[in-house]
Amino acid sequence: MRSLPFAALILATLPVLSQTDYDPEIIQQIARNEQHRPLLDAARSSGPATRGFDMKYLRCAWELDPAVRYISGSVTSWFTATTDLDELLFDLSDSLMVDAVTRNGSALSFTHGTNDQLVITLPTTVPAGQLDSVTVTYHGVPPNTGFGSFETDTHAGVPALWTLSEPYGAKDWWPCKQDLNDKIDSLDTYVTSPDSYRVAGNGLLMAPDTLGDHITWHWRHRHPIAHYLIATAVTNYQVDEQYAQLSTDSLLMLSYAYPEDFNLVSGAATYLLPRITFFDQLFGPYPFANEKYGHAQFGWGGGMEHQTMSFMGSFHPEIMAHELAHQWFGDKVTCGSWADIWLNEGFATYLSGLAYEHFSPNSWNIWKRDKILSVTSQPDGSVFCPDTNNIGRLFSSRLTYNKGAMVIHMLRWVCGDSAFYQGVRNYLEDPDLAYGSATTADLQAHLEATSGLDLTGFLADWFTGEGYPSYTTIWSQDAAGVVTVSLSQVTSHPSVDFFELPVPLRFSAGGMDSTVVLDNTSNDQLFYFHLPFAVDTVAFDPDRWLISAQNFTTSVADLGADRSALVLFPNPAKDRITWNVPASFPMLSARVLDALGRVVMSANPRAGSLDISELSHGSYLLELRGPSGPLRARFVKE
Ligand SMILES: [Zn+2]
Repeated sequence: MRSLPFAALILATLPVLSQTDYDPEIIQQIARNEQHRPLLDAARSSGPATRGFDMKYLRCAWELDPAVRYISGSVTSWFTATTDLDELLFDLSDSLMVDAVTRNGSALSFTHGTNDQLVITLPTTVPAGQLDSVTVTYHGVPPNTGFGSFETDTHAGVPALWTLSEPYGAKDWWPCKQDLNDKIDSLDTYVTSPDSYRVAGNGLLMAPDTLGDHITWHWRHRHPIAHYLIATAVTNYQVDEQYAQLSTDSLLMLSYAYPEDFNLVSGAATYLLPRITFFDQLFGPYPFANEKYGHAQFGWGGGMEHQTMSFMGSFHPEIMAHELAHQWFGDKVTCGSWADIWLNEGFATYLSGLAYEHFSPNSWNIWKRDKILSVTSQPDGSVFCPDTNNIGRLFSSRLTYNKGAMVIHMLRWVCGDSAFYQGVRNYLEDPDLAYGSATTADLQAHLEATSGLDLTGFLADWFTGEGYPSYTTIWSQDAAGVVTVSLSQVTSHPSVDFFELPVPLRFSAGGMDSTVVLDNTSNDQLFYFHLPFAVDTVAFDPDRWLISAQNFTTSVADLGADRSALVLFPNPAKDRITWNVPASFPMLSARVLDALGRVVMSANPRAGSLDISELSHGSYLLELRGPSGPLRARFVKE
């Protein structure tokens, strides 16, 4: 990513908007919300509003010229005191300069300039329950943190400016309360820019206001919004309007495109319309149906789910579905802590998979294969994010996105489709969570209520636990058709001893097949059942419900009569040989002997695999030794 070297700063002044411009309709809306508030706050598991106040409404007036890396303007914050309040704490970068803080037109004293904090002293105590407001007027050159919280760039030689605050960058460009549990109930943004540009924003566009060679673009949003989902983008956008069909109404789909990419961007919106209808049917009404959904093109190589207006640097179908899905998962219901970021990213990733399942089933299988390969490419790592200050870890594609999505897929497998979809819809529509925030425990409670299951063990293994299982399946069938299956697993990380899961196996022969689900609760577990045909093939988890890898499936006939024999694979092998033995076998040592019986390598027997890339070609013997004697198997090094 590239930023313009900033030209000489222009000092712009903006008329400070009087607080009497405040729309009375908002007060009514706030009052309506207030009636439910005490109940709502008490029940919110992810925590009450912090800092002694609850954000109600924001009025932002900014002057932005995309040719100049600079912001000036004012932000009026309406809030309700939740305790008797003597000062207000906002987050605001020390790089910005506060010109004034006012309340009802009177200047307030404040301190700013250390730890990115703006502390405003209230002249008299604001009692708990009182609605009040302050206006902060400020200017400066915003720093650029995270994924580019405040960026300027060009496309086709034309300046462009955009913001992307997630996770911690809102304070880089406006005075805010960076609290996931305190959404702003309602928002107006007024962005004044040279008249060659248009401004993309949250909510509905109101009539623009032209003054000389500048235009003020007013976006009005009447739904609760998390601080990091407020965004603005400015360039010479060309605008396209389409409509998606929802269950009850049609939805405006706006595209703000670079003129040189207009056909691509409007075509992408056309592609997305049936996906909007699909998610609306599957997960309940599009959350901002009385406003819009939109794409605003920007210069970052991905997408960002700004509420009602995703900023898009790529129009790949999967990214479009992902950002759209965030309107339900992330925007309507926001993760209540960054450690729970998978509630945003796991679901958005999973819904991009569900779009494949519904619209192009062949891609769905490939999608699941690739997610599983990504998750199991390393033996460790949890969906839970233990270090939320590490942005790379927070947004880890392997753990937060792919493992998060596949854990949701496994929750669907464990709960069953009906309980899963109903539980997730209930989670999205729970009055304590909808248009608010949620934790993993909230999702767990809803899925437990619809499935009747206790998911504590599942989440201990798959949310906080690390790694994945590798299965060994050994089967046989007798003359009467009774199939015997021995199922065992090794785990890739010591944080989980055993993954209790329903394991699907597909038995087939000559055009007949039968899928059997085995409730795997212990190692070396034996299962017996009858199949009305002579099985010749067994496929482990053929529809890819489970995160697992290095699985091995064989019949007793193929193994030889001795079921205690050591199983090696692949064989022949080139770089690495893997072994599976009953987990109860007490192994003391492992070694490799050459054709002359000489020990050429030794290994940790519990490692389960060995790098043999240095061995020369030929036949070898792997020997595992335990107190009850050795297990041996031959393999060929290619
Ligand atoms: Zn995302």
